[in-house]
This record gives sequence, C-alpha cells and structure tokens, in this order.
Amino acid sequence: MMASRPKVHISRRQRYACILCGRCCRRFHVLLTPVEAERLAALDWGDAEGVPRDFTTRLHGHLYFRRAPTGGCVFLDESTGACRIHQRFGLAVKALTCRGYPHNIASTWPGEVSVVARMDCPAVQRNAGPPLETNRAAIERMVTELGTSGGFTGRQLEGLSRDAVETVIRALTGLLEDAADLPPGTRAYGFFLAAERFRALGSSFLNDLSTLRQVIPSLLERVKRDASRRRDHGIGWFSRAVCREWLAAYCRRDEELAHPSLRDRVVRTASLAGYAFGLGSLRVMGSEHPAISLRAARLFTRGRGWTPSDHAAWECYWRLLLARLEGPQFFGVAYYDTPLFTGLRALAQSYALVLAAARCHAAERNADRIETEDVHYAVGAIDHCLGRSPLLQFRLWRLVEDHFSGVRYARLLTSLGWE
Ligand code: SF4
Repeated sequence: MMASRPKVHISRRQRYACILCGRCCRRFHVLLTPVEAERLAALDWGDAEGVPRDFTTRLHGHLYFRRAPTGGCVFLDESTGACRIHQRFGLAVKALTCRGYPHNIASTWPGEVSVVARMDCPAVQRNAGPPLETNRAAIERMVTELGTSGGFTGRQLEGLSRDAVETVIRALTGLLEDAADLPPGTRAYGFFLAAERFRALGSSFLNDLSTLRQVIPSLLERVKRDASRRRDHGIGWFSRAVCREWLAAYCRRDEELAHPSLRDRVVRTASLAGYAFGLGSLRVMGSEHPAISLRAARLFTRGRGWTPSDHAAWECYWRLLLARLEGPQFFGVAYYDTPLFTGLRALAQSYALVLAAARCHAAERNADRIETEDVHYAVGAIDHCLGRSPLLQFRLWRLVEDHFSGVRYARLLTSLGWE
C-alpha cells in the first residue's frame, strides 16, 4: 500500500528567487547519494568542454561533490555564477541537496512537514523574489523524494497538546508583531521573557486552554513592561568567555574543516583558546566572518561607543524568528531533537548571538552603528548553525543555553549593549 503524502506547510513569511550569487556552491559541501552520483556520471554532455568526470569525494564515509582549487563546486561556472548541470540539463537533474537549498524541510506533526527558507542564502535575507508558496509543486516533489515522516514525539512536546503548543506560538508571534515599534533589544528580550514564562507555567496549566487564553493578555502585558526596564548589571569574565566560545561555535564552518592541514588545526585550536580572552578573530572559524579581533570589536562595552541602529535594519532577524515559529521549526528535528521549550529558549537567545556577530561585522567596517548589511551577515551566520551544526548538537551547548537563562540573559544583553 502506498504511504499517504504528508501535508506540506510552506512559510507564508518568506520569499525567494535565486540571485545566482554562487555562495551555496562555494561555501557548502554538497552531499550525494550513490544513486545520484551514478545518475550524474551517466549524463551525456556531448562535446561540452571541461566537464569534470571525477566529480565526487568521500568525507567521513559519505559522498560529496568535489571542490575545485578555487573552493567552489567543480560544476560551478565561475564566469556566470551558475551550476553547469542546471544550465545544461535543468533544475530537475540536479542532486536533491542542490535542488533543496535554501529550503529547510522538517517533519513536524505526524503526517505533516513544514518548509522554511534558510537565512544563510543572500536572496532569502533580502526577501527577494516571489513567496515560497509559489514553488509549491517543486517543494512537494522534494518532500516526497525525501520521504520525511514521523512527527514530534511526546518527549519533545513536553506533555503539551497540539492546541496548547499552537496557542503559545500564536501568542509569541503576536507579541513580536505588536512590538514592532520597540527598540530591537527590548523586542527580542520580551520574546525571551515570554518564552520563559510560558515554560514556567507547566504543562497542566498550558493544556487548560480556556485558562491559558484568559491569562495570555496579562502575561504579555507584564512581559512588555518588564522587557523595557533598565538593567545595570552586566556579566562577569567567566560568562564573557563562555559567550565568546558560544559565538565561535556558531561561526565554525565544517566545510572548511574537511581537509585541514596541521597548520590549520594548530591555528584553530589556538584561536578557540584565545576567544575566551577576546583574542583572535572569527575569520579563523570560516572565511565569511570578520577578520577583526573580538577585543577590537568591543563586544562587551555595554554599547558605549555604539550608536543605536535604525529599527528597520533588524527586519531580517524578525523574519527569522517568525518563520521558525510559524514552522514550527525550533524544536524536534529542527533543533537537535530537543523538547519544545529548550528549542524555544535557543531561538530567543539567538538575539544575543546575532547582536554580537553584527557588532563584529560593523566594527570591521570601522562603523559605530549596526546597519542592514551587518544584520544580514549575522542572521546568515547564526541561522546557518541554528539546529544544523554537528558541533552544537552536543549536550554541552544546552548547558550554555541554560547558563544564559533567567536574569543572566538580561545581564548578557546589558554587557552586549542591547540595541
Ligand atoms: S546562496 Fe541563494 S541566491 Fe546564492 S546561488 Fe545559492 S540559492 Fe542562489
């Protein structure tokens, strides 16, 4: 009997049309199945010149497209920024990973999957192109090909019913939308506070929908008031060291660790040790990151020396939060199989990481104010690993998220200087 097709929810908040920047073909290692490798090897290129015949490489037992000496995929046409397979044979012939990017397809409720667009794609950052939904037919074909199945487990739902989860998500979405006029730091901290307060209510309370709906307005009002309160205390040296290592872990690009030389290994190890003291730059973790040292970027100056950004510069960040909530793609398979409130806290804490990364990017430009380009870089850098990093899946990093829970998160934002 044929398995029934999953219901596919596509983000209504995101747009995408490839701008042929070639970033994904240069920056990522693309996984291939043996069947795909065989199919691509059999393509008839006729008399086309310079077609790579030996196009696969093996890493950790898996097949990937080989990289040219320039760092890009061997099929990337550097003169046009386009994929040669796509140019010659069309989209449908490409490997599934290539066709799928920048879509992130995740199993959510039993029999359902959701699709959001990854914010490490420049076109998605700019929200350029038609709504994702326009591409529904191709997306549904990819979902079928992937065979995504399953759904949130009872452990991931923390005892909550679907209605309760969706009610909490609607409340958080409404809070973010209503707070559009607030400074970015206050808006983001309000989101964090609300997530933590919903967690504190516990599953019995949250599953009582009529009571939950009654308390939501007052809970959100208190959150808005508390998020605007001035805070004086920052974090100490230990938490600063933890924060720098946390940021570096998000900036670590496994693509560049594929064939490290001894020198690369030594430099990375020394950098990881140095980050604790503010030494070294994020560039060592990936070539897209700023080369300025963390100390020179003035991360923990409580905002002194920084001019507040225009609120509009942060639009891309709110789109990230809202799309992940809408998925929902912030827990379960979308975040290391973690429970609902663990993933929600990590999503809310992404503001601190994005702020720190944006500060580094702006400091590299010698600017004293975060602009749209800095937020775009930072959202791309952090979203790249949000739930997708082989390193960040380890429990140690959940302990770091716990470390920056409660009042210490407000202190972290005070040290970072809010926005
Ligand atoms: S990164 Fe995005 S815009 Fe650039 S080539 Fe890849 S899919 Fe297209």
